[in-house]
Amino acid sequence: MRRQNINRHTLPQRTCVACHQVKPKPELIRLVRLSTGEVIVDIEGKKAGRGAYLCPKLECWEQGLSGNQLEYRLHTTLTPENRERLMEYAKHRLGESASGKNK
Ligand SMILES: [Zn+2]
Repeated sequence: MRRQNINRHTLPQRTCVACHQVKPKPELIRLVRLSTGEVIVDIEGKKAGRGAYLCPKLECWEQGLSGNQLEYRLHTTLTPENRERLMEYAKHRLGESASGKNK
């Protein structure tokens, strides 16, 4: 068995645009602005372009998307449609896994 040796000190640190917490990059979700101005979730974190980071927490997405922090950081203007698409992603990806389904 190989031991997973993650050296925290070598991980790049990034700041969530909503809550401004600094975290190791892999713990945050990267958003990237495409050349069209559209903002998408960069799942692999490797897309070229101006990027911003958000915690994997719904509240950070809500805050980041409702205010202009994200737009400011990415030097773009989110269309309502784009905003909605990102929120959908967050709800799908983060809403369910966070607390499970309690129905
Ligand atoms: Zn955050």
